[in-house]
Amino acid sequence: MLLTGKNAIVTGGSRGIGRAIAISLAQQGAAVAVVYAGNTAAAEETLQMIEEKGGHGILFQCNVADDVAVADMVKSVKEQLGSVDILVNNAGITRDGLLMRMKESDWQAVLDINLTGAFHCTKAVSKIMMKQRSGAIVNITSVVGLTGNAGQVNYAAAKAGILGFTKSVAKELASRGIRANAVAPGCIDTDMTAVLGDSVIEEMIKTIPMGRVAKPEEVAQAVVFLASDNASYITGQVLNVDGGMVM
Ligand code: NAP
Repeated sequence: MLLTGKNAIVTGGSRGIGRAIAISLAQQGAAVAVVYAGNTAAAEETLQMIEEKGGHGILFQCNVADDVAVADMVKSVKEQLGSVDILVNNAGITRDGLLMRMKESDWQAVLDINLTGAFHCTKAVSKIMMKQRSGAIVNITSVVGLTGNAGQVNYAAAKAGILGFTKSVAKELASRGIRANAVAPGCIDTDMTAVLGDSVIEEMIKTIPMGRVAKPEEVAQAVVFLASDNASYITGQVLNVDGGMVM
């Protein structure tokens, strides 16, 4: 197992990509703190799936947009697990709409959760990792952060922000033994894409060289790699998991 003895925090771990990441990290031996916004039933299901596979997990309901709540959550994870070795900033939302009609509140909510949330979690965890002089941070961005997307100015801005954030964190913390990388998923089968409807997904598939959407587990494997010592000399990078959508 790649992650025996490591402790991880996965934000947005109750559903979709985050759930697959939490389970995959646990399968590799990490104890996982699963952070979620409000869907306790889904979070409990993730925990059950971790435990069924022989892993160890704990649950935290915590809004990543709230800096005080995040600081408390990270402190509590450290107290319960003993260290924080891996942080996966995965929590995210969409509030799609065309620029001309986008409400200020929809712009702000996406920036607050998708970008500022990663800042809050990374800041809180970095203090622990700096003392340990080791750690791996993986931020989930999107192909949309690389290419832009009509109807998603808020989401694309937040995801592009994650790229600059990741590279800056990588440069700041490399000398302390902390790596920071990003994973850019393409079109993944989760609740987030289910709301788009079949016709939108079919159009999207036409832009994917591999001709299909991905399962969340396919993103999780890239995260496991970047979080593990197999990626010990990799920092500040973006790994696209998109069936060739962006190349
Ligand atoms: P999802 O199925 O909608 O799940 C979103 C997760 O984020 C849930 O666990 C949710 O918790 C959590 N969350 C939302 N707001 C939060 C907050 N304020 N604080 C803490 N947790 C919060 O989404 P997904 O498709 O798995 O996406 C996961 C990540 O991948 C996101 O960053 C997304 O932008 C990115 N991504 C997804 C795709 C795709 O095709 N699906 C493509 C590229 C990038 P609750 O369950 O409690 O609501």
